[in-house]
Amino acid sequence: MVLLLLNYIISIVFTSGPARMTVPYTTFVQQANAGNVKDVTAQSNSIQGDFKKTVTYGTASGTLFQTERPVFAQDNLVALLTQHNVPITATPPGSGSPLLSLLISFGPALLLIGGLLYLSRRMQTTGPGGILGAFGQSRAKLYSPDSGPKTTFADVAGIEEAKQDLAQVVDFLRTPEKYQRLGAQIPHGILLVGPPGTGKTLLARAVAGESNRPFFSLSASEFVEAIVGVGAARVRDLFAKAKAAAPSIIFIDELDAIGRSRASSATFGANDEREQTLNQILTEMDGFTPNQNVVVLAATNRPEVLDPALLRPGRFDRRVTVSPPDRAGREAILKIHTRNLRLAPDVNLDDIAGATAGFVGADLRNIANEAALIAAQKGEDQVTHADFDEAIERSVLGLRRPIVLGPDEKRLIAYHESGHALMGLLVPGADPVKKLTIVPRGLSLGSTYSQPIDDRYNYPESYLRGRITLALGGRAAEEVAYGAVTTGAESDLQQVNQIARSMVARFGMSPKLGPLNLTQPGNGDVAQHFSEETSKLLDEEVRRIVDECHRESVRMLTENRDRLDRLAEAVLKKDTLDTDEIYAATGISKPASSHPVIAPPLPANGSARDGDLAKDEVGSEIRR
Ligand code: ADP
Ligand code: MG
Ligand code: ZN
Repeated sequence: MVLLLLNYIISIVFTSGPARMTVPYTTFVQQANAGNVKDVTAQSNSIQGDFKKTVTYGTASGTLFQTERPVFAQDNLVALLTQHNVPITATPPGSGSPLLSLLISFGPALLLIGGLLYLSRRMQTTGPGGILGAFGQSRAKLYSPDSGPKTTFADVAGIEEAKQDLAQVVDFLRTPEKYQRLGAQIPHGILLVGPPGTGKTLLARAVAGESNRPFFSLSASEFVEAIVGVGAARVRDLFAKAKAAAPSIIFIDELDAIGRSRASSATFGANDEREQTLNQILTEMDGFTPNQNVVVLAATNRPEVLDPALLRPGRFDRRVTVSPPDRAGREAILKIHTRNLRLAPDVNLDDIAGATAGFVGADLRNIANEAALIAAQKGEDQVTHADFDEAIERSVLGLRRPIVLGPDEKRLIAYHESGHALMGLLVPGADPVKKLTIVPRGLSLGSTYSQPIDDRYNYPESYLRGRITLALGGRAAEEVAYGAVTTGAESDLQQVNQIARSMVARFGMSPKLGPLNLTQPGNGDVAQHFSEETSKLLDEEVRRIVDECHRESVRMLTENRDRLDRLAEAVLKKDTLDTDEIYAATGISKPASSHPVIAPPLPANGSARDGDLAKDEVGSEIRR
């Protein structure tokens, strides 16, 4: 709106001189290359000038012209013009005609009046037309083939399957004839599905970069505006532009912001707008003829909330899954994001990949950056492995929190955390405990951090039980040492509940319920369509597993009471213990090689991170 008005003002000012024809920037560059430009005057990105010979554009022709240089233009216009000896004059923005400065100083008032005018018109017009039509033009960002540094598949790693799926689309966009000759049809709508930060947006940009075709990108949340009708008008405009530039790509990010199922969304107000926008997308997608070479990519991390209409044949009927990377993938992603860092020779990306199970591309990028920041802060001239360790720790545990605990509280936390850590040593097959600390970080007052050795795709029942036993260790230690429990175990108990429910409802690990999966495909939530009896049984079985693990935890800690005391004293003295110190304090000998357990982002919700599971939050609740 503001821009439109300003444009309008500027064009009034400029056109008040001799009549100038407006030519596309590309025409201007062509003429400059042909040596047909006599002189130019530039005011920021607006260029006016004279052609040497008359040029015809559309219905207009003449030698006086004006054009707008796109802000994303990467060409060297100055070099081109000097090469052809074109004199260049520039006026500072805002200078120039006194009329212009007058208008600018009255700008705010004019805007207000303009806005009121717009609103009053808006009451009368319902369709897109007049001012509304202009307003409804999409703010889609156009990345044309020659603008800016390109994103290519080389910038994307760790999601090879998704890349392969999209390679075909790229090939089609490059050489549509090859496919059309055989009558093959490329799907128009492709939905990228995956957890946040896995690289969906990045991948879409890479498709544009690889295929070298115009790319219209729009974030769906931009559509959802208060004024009804604008979203739909933008969609229409976006598709029109893309069709005109075909073969081309439309990218709708965060599709769930508008594409949410109409039945499930009950919010009032914004709804109408969203529905109209959604309908317009559906109409546009249905309106494609087979040889319209526009590929519509969309991304979401919540496919389950999408309106089923969007997924029907002819619409987003092709799905590309973007999963969190495995160890090798993480290493490859780290390689990309450490390209420009000065790494010390001791940095081992494979090790870092191993320590970051469950991290996605965006996390890894942050870690690389954080490590560089830490190194810079310390005044080092290379980024060392220790910097990476610290960056990972920060990302898992949060920043140190300046908080002063009383001695009693500190002792309680020391026991709680020691309980976790000791269980980590005693439970067979548990992930190795890396660190035990009673330094408050993020939301937690203390933490035990055990690091999974690698991704795991398969969980033996004993491993899951071990995790529950370990998570209950903090509370059990409070019981054993104090005979009472505090509220500090809340987040532990959430984990416990989550794991136990998964065991019973998802992995069929309850003999009473049998090998049933009661969860909804996709999101892992427990489905609703089973009998009350089953549901009761489910609760009972969860309770049984948790009780058994709890008893086990209390038993082990009672038997090892002296070790628990020693460990708690040690951490009270030093605040933080590493693996070796933990073993030393308990008098348990460290196993020669870490056990071959491979651990995991636990698929509790498909997206739970093992980091979340491995870290323990004593809970903000004990904060006083
Ligand atoms: P999404 O759209 O899936 O939420 P993004 O594409 O916005 O994720 O990812 C954010 C940033 O994280 C990217 O710009 C990129 O720097 C980094 N990133 C994410 N995934 C990857 C990947 N697979 N390979 C390389 N970098 C990645
Ligand atoms: Mg994104
Ligand atoms: Zn705990």
